[in-house]
Amino acid sequence: MPKSYKQGSIQGLTTDVAIVGAGVSGLYSGWRLLSGYFKETPDYRTSNPSVSIFDMSNRIGGRLFSIKNYPGLDGVVGELGGMRFMEHQKIANSLINKVLKLTVLDFPMGDKNKNLIYLRGQRFHESDYGKSGFKTNYNLDNKWQGKHPDEIFTAIVNDVLIKNGYSTGARNRKEWDEIKSILSYYQGPDKGQTLENIGFWNLINDQVGNEGYNFISDAGAYFSNTINWNSAEAMPYMMGDFVGDVKYKTIEGGFDMIAEGLAKLFSEAGGTIYNSKQLLNFSHNDLNSFKYKLLIRDTKDNDEYEIYCNSLILAMPRRALELINDHNFLFKGGEDIELKKNIRSVIGEPSFKLLMAFDNGKNRLPWWKSELDIDEGRSITDLPMRQCYYFGAAKDRNASLLLASYNDMRTVDFWKPLELPDQGMSYKKNSVHFKKMIDNNSFVPKATSFVTKEELEKVSKFYKQAPKRMVDHSLFQLKELHGVENIPDPFTTMYENWSDDPYGGGYHAWKARYDVGSVMSYMRRPMKTENVHICGEAYSDQQGWIEGAFCVAERMLQQEFAMCKPSEWLDDDYYLGR
Ligand SMILES: Cc1cc2nc3c(=O)[nH]c(=O)nc-3n(C[C@H](O)[C@H](O)[C@H](O)COP(=O)(O)OP(=O)(O)OC[C@H]3O[C@@H](n4cnc5c(N)ncnc54)[C@H](O)[C@@H]3O)c2cc1C
Repeated sequence: MPKSYKQGSIQGLTTDVAIVGAGVSGLYSGWRLLSGYFKETPDYRTSNPSVSIFDMSNRIGGRLFSIKNYPGLDGVVGELGGMRFMEHQKIANSLINKVLKLTVLDFPMGDKNKNLIYLRGQRFHESDYGKSGFKTNYNLDNKWQGKHPDEIFTAIVNDVLIKNGYSTGARNRKEWDEIKSILSYYQGPDKGQTLENIGFWNLINDQVGNEGYNFISDAGAYFSNTINWNSAEAMPYMMGDFVGDVKYKTIEGGFDMIAEGLAKLFSEAGGTIYNSKQLLNFSHNDLNSFKYKLLIRDTKDNDEYEIYCNSLILAMPRRALELINDHNFLFKGGEDIELKKNIRSVIGEPSFKLLMAFDNGKNRLPWWKSELDIDEGRSITDLPMRQCYYFGAAKDRNASLLLASYNDMRTVDFWKPLELPDQGMSYKKNSVHFKKMIDNNSFVPKATSFVTKEELEKVSKFYKQAPKRMVDHSLFQLKELHGVENIPDPFTTMYENWSDDPYGGGYHAWKARYDVGSVMSYMRRPMKTENVHICGEAYSDQQGWIEGAFCVAERMLQQEFAMCKPSEWLDDDYYLGR
């Protein structure tokens, strides 16, 4: 079960640094402040600060949320949030391997001859792309017909590079940052514009037409990759993280082990984590020697507390920032102040995951193995479920776990009306109306020969059951994608819609027409006269990855808190971004 940290009254608490948000960026910042070295300056923040972390949820980890030790599913892990990393993501990689010494596993993407692609009613395999005579159901130009979407992406990026006089081929993040802002476009309505002024959808559309855009959006599995975000950011992102045979890794026991590990190190170094504590507002303080007073609400009983600190780190995404009361010195001045404009520089990208566990029955095999000989990895479709991942079978082979739907952007809307109302507004959950909706809607877990209903109901308090109709819709789509008549009903489900408050999306993307480097630097300390900082994935240049959250936090600690580089475990020359 997810571990909860300190609860209860915090009235009058004082701390040098208050970190709000126990996602990876907040936990990392807390651990570094308590365990790292500071450059020699007389600043109070450089001498053994006391550090406390507050999170409004009753768990830690934020957008990392692994399902482990689930009754009946011993040995198989599900992921409701982040689930994998890449070796070139050096902070994540070093934390996992060197600092926390966790066991790393390959994260499988599947067999190109077995896993399925189902687009516009056509079922095929990834290995079919590029074969002589292979055609998709998209009305594409001959030049693109039958090609792998990655090949089309690569051709688009290469065309832009060549026309700008640059070579094609691999570039690291630093090399991309050096050319991003000078790349310009050379044809069509956006001729003469720099890439950061052009939306990625606009650019793709100009290159391969509307139907080409539809194809690479559908076949690319994530709509979020091809929305109309900043082209200068999109190109290196696509080339580095998704296109080609990218090798992903994960952590044995669940990807949120990295959050748990950081929380443990932070606590051992003397820090305290408080759960169920929501920051409502903050102000200057003249009651005692601490610079700021924070107003905190207990999300369990609605009690409010005042606490005090000298530095405040808001380790949270855009929507969470917007939910903080803006009657304070930082947000003073209305909607047009620079901070508010910069907060709006990123798009919160809706994202949704639904998991289902199946009884393997007598043959003790997952249905995708016995019906289709699929072992692992994912399948892709343009149906609203978009992707499914075959997480695998339990150790005893009695049950198996499927990420039945992983979808983002416009398809999240398909699932929204099937949800229970007011998710995330915990204080409304006691209303009669809400209870009625839950009774009418939730999937009811079923006892099997190897797990009781009571065990499943107990765990459903931590990993919420999906609404019943959502499960039914999903089963229809799973059957259509796989071309299989009989898929058993699941015995239990879990789901998370990351569009809900306080996240406002699973990940973020920079809007076009923003100077991303300047906004990133601005957000780490919006007012030079105040010790208030913003960090995390949302305003990073590796959005959608924990590495983005870590790099921004590390950059903030070195620049704003005068911390030394963590040379003990990270290469000094590792590029942290702009
Ligand atoms: C579906 C999905 C798949 C993903 N896949 C991957 C992946 O495979 N690999 C990868 O590296 N990354 C992945 N990511 C992204 C990754 O999860 C995030 O980049 C990372 O977890 C963000 O960390 P953070 O600290 O910036 O913010 P968050 O994790 O969002 O943490 C913010 C915290 O602040 C708390 N909070 C907000 N407002 C308040 C308040 N007012 N008071 C108190 N607490 C507050 C929240 O409860 C939360 O715990 C994925 C994300 C999602 C949703």
